[in-house]
Amino acid sequence: MRGLLQFTMDLFEGLGSEFAPQPPAPPKRAKKPKPPMLPPAAVAPSTPPSPLTQEDRDAPPAVPLSDTLTLANFVHPQATREVVLGSARVAYEFKRGKRKTIGFLVGAEGLSVRAPRWVALRDVDAAIREKADWILRKLTETQQRHARVEATRIDWKDGAEFPFMGEPVVIQLDPKHGFASVGGTLDAAEGDGPRTLRLAVAQNAEPSQIRDAAQAWLMRQARRLFIERLDHFAPRLGVSWQKLSLSNAATRWGSASADGSIRLNWRLIHFGLPVIDYVVAHELAHLRVMDHSHRFWETVESVVPDYDVLRQKLKDEAVPRWS
Ligand SMILES: [Zn+2]
Repeated sequence: MRGLLQFTMDLFEGLGSEFAPQPPAPPKRAKKPKPPMLPPAAVAPSTPPSPLTQEDRDAPPAVPLSDTLTLANFVHPQATREVVLGSARVAYEFKRGKRKTIGFLVGAEGLSVRAPRWVALRDVDAAIREKADWILRKLTETQQRHARVEATRIDWKDGAEFPFMGEPVVIQLDPKHGFASVGGTLDAAEGDGPRTLRLAVAQNAEPSQIRDAAQAWLMRQARRLFIERLDHFAPRLGVSWQKLSLSNAATRWGSASADGSIRLNWRLIHFGLPVIDYVVAHELAHLRVMDHSHRFWETVESVVPDYDVLRQKLKDEAVPRWS
């Protein structure tokens, strides 16, 4: 989701106004016919020919069907139209609506194109070709990110591994051990191998039980650590925080309210301490400056000098999927 938001912002920074083809003066009397609905069969072949640009003339001839499997494939699940951009086939979701410009959005599902009702399909295609580099770059980035996230999907069983404070931890099911109320114990590191988290869960437990036990343990660690780091940074920033809540939000790492309440996503516990510290300091800094102005970032920098690198790390690193 963060990715989606990012791309939306990229889009509006780069394209928003640039992409406003002038509307042809609409006929005054004749009621404009509605654009035909595009049935699913309208994928690909319905694309009307557009005037040849230099790019088109340089482009390789139409690819025979048998070769299309070698093309990179980006298919939006709600795709109704399709275009070949360079060596990629892009099936995209297309919607018309009350808007003044053609808009592109690359999200987790693929490319969505929005167009005003009066824009001809060939102009939509021309706009897509003009932005082909941007679209393909974003589609590729999104696909790679998705692959990274998928690779971090945890298979919840004895021996499952996940990052804890930036280091790998391996789960060992250990129902006989008395864990009191803690539900798990993290063994001290032995040599170079990952540390072992022993969970009080039966060997034949369902994956969801193992996941829940691991999550409960992680949330406990997160709360303990976050409080410690809040208490570390608050006096350095000259603020006092009142209340910590752990969040589970899919799209945000933290938030702060003027009354001193701090919300932090428990999944931050997957990251190394420097990244956690950056988020903690970021939210505490909001108790002084409630926006993202220059003064805000100076405040963050005063306690986390390399916040820029850590902020990027938070964006780039894929955290495990819990669903
Ligand atoms: Zn902020």
